[in-house]
Amino acid sequence: MCSVGGPLDIDLPADRVETKAYRCKDCGEQFKGIGKRPMCPSCQSEDVVEI
Ligand SMILES: [Zn+2]
Repeated sequence: MCSVGGPLDIDLPADRVETKAYRCKDCGEQFKGIGKRPMCPSCQSEDVVEI
């Protein structure tokens, strides 16, 4: 048996999650947000900016 290259076992996540860093304008908390409308985990404010 002559097998060249062996099985390719690459694990690619089907749903690639893109996280971005945000800073809350209200309390200054910096966090990683997912999606278009991230929410501050500290004060639940949506008034955040991408950093
Ligand atoms: Zn906040």
